Amino acid sequence: QSSTMIVTNTPGADLAVTNLAYCSPSDLHNFAVPGTKLFLALVANSFVLSLSYPLLIYICIHLDFNFDGILTPHENIRTGQIALNAIQRRHARVSSGDTISVSRFVPPEDFNLALLTLELEFIDAVILANQLRKRFAKQVLTSGQKVTFEYHGNNYIFTVTQAAVEGREGSNDAERGMISSDTYIVFEASNSSGIKIVNQREAASSNIFRQKEFNLQSLGIGGLGAEFADIFRRAFASRVFPPHVTSKLGIKHVKGMLLFGPPGTGKTLMARQIGKMLNGREPKIVNGPEVLSKFVGETEKNVRDLFADAENDQRTNGDQSELHVIIFDEIDAICKSRGSTRDGTGVHDSIVNQLLTKIDGVESLNNVLLIGMTNRKDLLDEALLRPGRLEVQVEISLPDENGRLQILQIHTNKMKENSFISPDVNLQELAARTKNYSGAELEGVVKSAVSFALNRQLSLDDLTKPVDEESIKVTMNDFLHALHE
Ligand code: ADP
Repeated sequence: QSSTMIVTNTPGADLAVTNLAYCSPSDLHNFAVPGTKLFLALVANSFVLSLSYPLLIYICIHLDFNFDGILTPHENIRTGQIALNAIQRRHARVSSGDTISVSRFVPPEDFNLALLTLELEFIDAVILANQLRKRFAKQVLTSGQKVTFEYHGNNYIFTVTQAAVEGREGSNDAERGMISSDTYIVFEASNSSGIKIVNQREAASSNIFRQKEFNLQSLGIGGLGAEFADIFRRAFASRVFPPHVTSKLGIKHVKGMLLFGPPGTGKTLMARQIGKMLNGREPKIVNGPEVLSKFVGETEKNVRDLFADAENDQRTNGDQSELHVIIFDEIDAICKSRGSTRDGTGVHDSIVNQLLTKIDGVESLNNVLLIGMTNRKDLLDEALLRPGRLEVQVEISLPDENGRLQILQIHTNKMKENSFISPDVNLQELAARTKNYSGAELEGVVKSAVSFALNRQLSLDDLTKPVDEESIKVTMNDFLHALHE
């Protein structure tokens, strides 16, 4: 069902305008309120100059009802005409006077899935999906269509491989659908190394969620793959899904997590990475002792201020607000269990209470993720660890031999690339010999080995003597010396 119309200039409207040449008035009576304008989305396809895919144009059908409830046409547009503004004409590559065919576009009900192909690591999927939804809001995508999207300065080309409609048994595929804030976007890697999530109902059981370990080495994090997989499943999997899915499942997003374990094991590295993954930029990191102030009431204010950005964003942008990741290092400094400090002032208690109030207050805010870190979980006020607060607790412990190997590889990568490492260096053996070393200590071993190697090149008698860059080599012996330092 379509009708042929002649293109004219728009009478100053942003939207394409036509009269009721296509829709029958009785059709409209059902859902039109007299005196209002009804906006219908029509797809104008098979333009005279053929387009490779149908172009969606919002067409405003003027419904001027007179007193008798009779529809009257738009006075400036004759029947059989469609008014397009200059931009729309350019998009459609048509000019005034061209004949086009227009048909009514009914977005598939509950259109909910667009499957795009790209080559990216899984980690960007959450952020990227959000940005794509914003960028393509209210646009229609069609199977086979290629869309370009600029992300972090790179242009990515996505192919819409399938558009499916959720909840329609049997007919699960749709030719095209409109992107809304609820559209669930699934990324399918175009090469075999990438990930593939089939659709949202299967997503929960698909590989990415079942994966036991992630390889984080390319992100500069050694070991910790299992911990990351755990965090991913417990704290962010739910954020991959659009709000209406999570609300149907009756789940709430995790708004707090605690990373605990010995110092130097990569808690900060991990928290930063999580922050970056979730919103594409460096997260805010605060340090417990820095928040403390000796002035009365000042620490409470500092705690409140941490949440100010998220609150403002929520106030102005509602559901469209970004996720705010707040990383709180040494959270034990301000959250020691209440009553444990015997200064009798109760100041500590009021700080803890302030933080709890803020965390509980973000209930309605789905836009905060607080990541606390501590070496002393035992000192923390228990109230902080209850459900709804820092509820996901993940221990980051000392690396095992394989983790140590990965950490050593990460920290020797640069010198290896530049051939500053001697072939006799056996990282596997070093990993075996460094039981109970933390990541930070392993980094220290590498630094110290380098210092031995550099020292060999220097002549103490003449520090101005030029160093022969080529001959710098860090040897196994340097590493062994470093271990005994
Ligand atoms: P934490 O927050 O657990 O005290 P950090 O993340 O600040 O530890 O680690 C300090 C430094 O030690 C890091 O910047 C990094 O160079 C090194 N490091 C620690 N753990 C790891 C790890 N798992 N992989 C790679 N480097 C690590």
